[in-house]
Amino acid sequence: MSSFSFPSYPTIESTYTSLPDSFFQYTKPTPVSSPKVLFWNDELAYDFHFSEWAKDKDALAQFFSGSTLREGLNPFAQAYAGHQFGHFTMLGDGRAILIGEILNRSGERFDFQWKGSGRTRYSRNGDGRATVSAMAREYIMSEATFGLQIPTTRSLAVVTTGEPVLREEIQTGAVLTRVAKSHIRVGTFEYAYQALPLNELEVLFRYTAERHAPDVLKQNNPALNFLEFVMKRQVDLVTNWMRVGFIHGVMNTDNMSISGETIDYGPCAFMNGFSAKRVFSSIDVNGRYAYTNQVGIAQWNLGCLANSLLPLIDPNKEKAIELAKAKMSELETWFQESYIRMLGEKIGIPHLTEKDLPLLQNLYQWMQDSEADFTNTFLVLEGVHSPKDSIYNDVRWKDWMKTWQEEKTKKGIRDEDAIALMQKTNPSLIPRNHLVESALTNASQGLTSIAEQLITRSKSPYQRDIGYDYTTEVPMGGDHNYQTFCGT
Ligand code: AMP
Ligand code: MG
Repeated sequence: MSSFSFPSYPTIESTYTSLPDSFFQYTKPTPVSSPKVLFWNDELAYDFHFSEWAKDKDALAQFFSGSTLREGLNPFAQAYAGHQFGHFTMLGDGRAILIGEILNRSGERFDFQWKGSGRTRYSRNGDGRATVSAMAREYIMSEATFGLQIPTTRSLAVVTTGEPVLREEIQTGAVLTRVAKSHIRVGTFEYAYQALPLNELEVLFRYTAERHAPDVLKQNNPALNFLEFVMKRQVDLVTNWMRVGFIHGVMNTDNMSISGETIDYGPCAFMNGFSAKRVFSSIDVNGRYAYTNQVGIAQWNLGCLANSLLPLIDPNKEKAIELAKAKMSELETWFQESYIRMLGEKIGIPHLTEKDLPLLQNLYQWMQDSEADFTNTFLVLEGVHSPKDSIYNDVRWKDWMKTWQEEKTKKGIRDEDAIALMQKTNPSLIPRNHLVESALTNASQGLTSIAEQLITRSKSPYQRDIGYDYTTEVPMGGDHNYQTFCGT
């Protein structure tokens, strides 16, 4: 392990580079001409002992754009592969470089990574750069996801480079500093399984297990228990996405983190009007990563992980397949249980069972038919939002409310308990797409006030007395033409 430090700066370590060199390549970021800090996350900076740095804005901009490297620091790009829209591809950090690992104030280890910091050996035809609007989007969305108490990578800084980046139109470049429990993905295991000798897959497994799930190493079959660990994290993660109407947009296996954090905020968005098949990403023409498909896709991706772990589960391939299949067959049940529990909590009913599902199906079908706003509908139910929208005068809605009340009475659930549960489960605030877009337009001009306002509000999304009318948040005409773009 290499490490370096200087007065009042955190120690930056690198345990990942103890892996064989097929897993990474030492790579220096490409310096930029006039770096300027656009966003700086004070709260996160404090947790990692970076507060002192904020006093010197120039040094901050230099370092977090990757333009001045401190001595002793050996950044690197990581190798990985992935199934993109179902097709296996060799990838790797094409525009990201890992700075190293830093312990937070609680002693937990996190990766720090520059994103948009120049070409690497894995860049293929890409320029290694990122636009300010894409990096500002990741900054806003990841911090909002954190506010929603959903596992996620976080963002420490966005530094504009002062250099043009050529996309459909010319934009300013920017470097995001991403903070993650690690950047090890399902695709990292696929890479080791497909391209490296078995002993290197074993080394990756041991390193990852020690870092994220050390207890599995004490079990009879560590690899099988590790698979279970990752499965449970994904069940929790995707259930949370479904709870708040989040659509990741590009759930390729290289964008699925082993630690169970939401990672890679490319074309993601939160839906307004409910539609089970909602898709925002411009390239997802078949709706592979549509809202309700996310559960099935998570299962598919975990199947790819299971496949890559086979030689570690058992040296006998048939036996390994049998064990992995048995474990994978539990996944459906875990998802089902977690999903049903979450649905119940959204309507204030704990311990919902499968036989209660028609109640929820009727509600979701009504939301779909009336394109009701997903977030606000649950606030209407809770009684904290009086809608102007005529759909809430609909007979179907009124009948459903009546059945819901009867159901609560039958189950002996007191109204105050139902409300308390709904308050914890349903956000009153999500980063609405039109607000995100205006924050990004603003940020592209070097202005941050709209984004800062959005970020500040996103810190307490379960608060109820926010002092303004929720309905003003909902755009007229829902999300019909809203599109998001990948890798910009
Ligand atoms: P993403 O869609 O951001 O998950 O990226 C998928 C793959 O494409 C990763 O290997 C990225 O590193 C790579 N990539 C995306 N954009 C660029 C770029 N501008 N230059 C080089 N590589 C890129
Ligand atoms: Mg990615």
